[in-house]
Amino acid sequence: MMAQYLDIKKDHSNALLFYRMGDFYEMFFDDAVAAAAALDIALTKRGQHEGADIPMCGVPVHAAESYLQTLTRKGFIVAICEQLEDPSEAKKRGSKSVVKRGVVRLVTPGTLTEDTLLDARRHNYLAAWSLIRDDGAVAWVDMSTGEMIVAGCVPVSLGPLLARLGPSEVLCIDAQEADLRAMVDGTVTVLGTASFDSTNAADRLCRLYGVKTLDAFGSFSRAELSALGALVDYLDLTQQGNLPLLRPPVREQISGAMQIDAATRRNLEISQRLSGGRDGSLLSVIDRTVTAGGARLLDRRIAAPSCNLTEIRSRHDAVEALTDNAHLREDLRAALRSVPDMDRALGRLSLDRGGPRDLAALRDGLAQAEVVAGVLGASQGLPDRMTEVARDLLGHETLRDLLDTALVAEPPHLARDGGFIAPGHDPDLDDARTLRDEGRSVIAGMQADYAAQTGISALKIKHNNVLGYFIETTATHATKMMAPPLSETFIHRQTTASAVRFTTVDLSDLERRVLSAGSRALEIEKRHFTLLREAAVSAGSIIGAASRALAEIDLTAGLADLASGADWCRPRMDHSRAFDVKAGRHPVVEAALRRDGGQSFVANDCALNAGDGAAICLLTGPNMAGKSTWLRQNALIALLAQAGAFVPAQAAHLGLVSQLFSRVGAADDLARGRSTFMVEMVETAAILNQADERALVILDEIGRGTATYDGLSIAWATLEHLHDANRCRALFATHYHELTALADKLPGASNATVTVKEWDGDVIFLHEVRSGAADRSYGVQVAKFAGLPDSVVHRARDVLETLERNDREGGGKRPVIDDLPLFATAPAPAPKLTPKDDPLRDKVKSIQPDQISPMDALTLLYELKGLA
Ligand code: ADP
Repeated sequence: MMAQYLDIKKDHSNALLFYRMGDFYEMFFDDAVAAAAALDIALTKRGQHEGADIPMCGVPVHAAESYLQTLTRKGFIVAICEQLEDPSEAKKRGSKSVVKRGVVRLVTPGTLTEDTLLDARRHNYLAAWSLIRDDGAVAWVDMSTGEMIVAGCVPVSLGPLLARLGPSEVLCIDAQEADLRAMVDGTVTVLGTASFDSTNAADRLCRLYGVKTLDAFGSFSRAELSALGALVDYLDLTQQGNLPLLRPPVREQISGAMQIDAATRRNLEISQRLSGGRDGSLLSVIDRTVTAGGARLLDRRIAAPSCNLTEIRSRHDAVEALTDNAHLREDLRAALRSVPDMDRALGRLSLDRGGPRDLAALRDGLAQAEVVAGVLGASQGLPDRMTEVARDLLGHETLRDLLDTALVAEPPHLARDGGFIAPGHDPDLDDARTLRDEGRSVIAGMQADYAAQTGISALKIKHNNVLGYFIETTATHATKMMAPPLSETFIHRQTTASAVRFTTVDLSDLERRVLSAGSRALEIEKRHFTLLREAAVSAGSIIGAASRALAEIDLTAGLADLASGADWCRPRMDHSRAFDVKAGRHPVVEAALRRDGGQSFVANDCALNAGDGAAICLLTGPNMAGKSTWLRQNALIALLAQAGAFVPAQAAHLGLVSQLFSRVGAADDLARGRSTFMVEMVETAAILNQADERALVILDEIGRGTATYDGLSIAWATLEHLHDANRCRALFATHYHELTALADKLPGASNATVTVKEWDGDVIFLHEVRSGAADRSYGVQVAKFAGLPDSVVHRARDVLETLERNDREGGGKRPVIDDLPLFATAPAPAPKLTPKDDPLRDKVKSIQPDQISPMDALTLLYELKGLA
């Protein structure tokens, strides 16, 4: 056995080998050590190899999924090695013969299909990056749903694209590994160059889809072919030749989606908070979908808002129709609520990893699709998008009828134990089950028949382990049975002291059937499972279409629900460079304020009037006034609009945004080992180098990470560059009041400020954005809120007043410092005690903790308190 183990293991050195032994997956040697530590299970020993103990650990097969979950989350790849024959087969070959085993699958983060290992509401992408000379491409697939997409991608766009996809595993060649590791959080898997060969790839793809040429799917560049080929090669390797149901590859134009880089995604907290959790992200606040497919679609749309005006308008038309018709919307959502995850069920079935419950998911999903189609069919004047989508919901009667009659209402998870085919579907199966369940009564019936036939009422059918079932009668009656005509039916088996035993052809037949009825029933069920599975898989593409249609309707209804409930509006979209939002809100901050039940959100306008040139709004105002909130809400409004949602505003007129950038000054990025200021500058450089005229740029306190004059100069130059070179739309928040002067100099720049009211030396935040510059920064007042000691606040006020006075009178900073006597406003220092004459200290020193009783300790405490 060890020889077999080592032989298999040598082909899977980078994976943990789960070696099947009966009801366990066992691991040996280093695998056992690593797995025992990762899974926190006992490490034992089994036998010896080359004179040393063999470390071993194991997990029960029935609980393997949860262990796989832990291992894949920790970045392990697991090779599942199964027994490929029944142990009795091996025995037949000889007592020393080992059961045949082989690896049937590699479990890697990007190739999961089990519900327990996946997040139902997120895609799980496996991506591949290929670079052929300067021509790059990324291909990605969600194996659990079969979706496969490829996009040409120049190296600078790779980071943003991977940030959008968030793949759990990326394939590349050796030379690219380091670059990719810096870009993705998921696993990076290195493949040989042969996997990326573009010529092989074309053949591989043709074979996979059973076509002679790939032209039918579009034309692909060599890099695109290479990336697609690597995906298919890797799936083939990990699934050991058992390929999932893959949809034909779809070619995507990266420029068709709004470009949003990784830093911007993090900053805007689109699908995750900066702190890591999902709660409180944009996605968590706007997700009203009721199906897993709908949730995944929303995730995709928000990750890649469209830049195609026709598409965006069509999405808005659909949302509008369902916003206006609450009745229809609610009917649809009610019908959608019971739609199961058909995509993933189909994915598992296609890999032969599914069970009866997956078939039931298709049955129920297709039935609900008909209900949804009925609801849509009964309503008038739907937009084209909805009627087109509705078409894909119908036409599944044959499969649905088949599944309906074949399956019981609530089938079990696994096909292994049977019990999922409905009674009445197959008479043979019904017979087998009747025999299995009612074997005894069938035999009792037979006994009555024979008693009647022979006229011997004392005739009995009995069972023992030697003869099996037999007919027994007393010696007196036996003579009659051994004579014709009865002897033609009854065959003598045995005579004992008190009885004579017979059998009949029918009885031995029945016996055989009763004994094998159980296994026969199971076999028939398994045969049906295979037939049903094949029927489902061959209808895969139309089931996929129905599933996509349901997801689209769910998403639309969810967005409409959001829009009507939260008072959002349809944005007017065009090719202009307008950015005109009336009474906009930040959906996440607004939701948080509402939840806390305190202050309500103050809506604010944003009007960037970009004609031919730039349109930059320079926002000043004290800290905590709401600058970041306003900046981000406008970025989110652009993103939501192009994703196809309505926006949190009273009205909005938006010209298409091609790229969205958001940066916050001095964001700590210690994890990556760069200084904060360096990060800030690298990120700002990326914007200045990339932003085009259609970009929307949000800069929050850029330059704050360095000394004042450095920071001011950098902010100043950045603003000028955005205005003159990038000529984009931008919102720029700063605490450098000096910058507000730029608005007079640059025609495309304007000033805005977040208002505060000063009252009795305190500041009240009004959170209102209006045009003009802030007159002062109120930093000292804000510091007071933060709980700085009064003496420090007073002192800071004095320093500020002196500085300001001096500024007005034209003096430099030096004399100011001289004007401010040290400790001028500090409280009089308390008389200092030297250690020598400090009775408290003396007392503490004299304590011998080991020597005193609890009672004395308490008394001592009072004494010390008195001295303090
Ligand atoms: P700044 O960037 O000016 O320091 P923030 O945008 O971080 O300020 O806002 C500080 C806090 O003020 C937010 O956490 C939020 O609770 C509140 N706030 C911001 N904008 C608004 C608004 N428009 N209406 C109500 N509260 C707001």
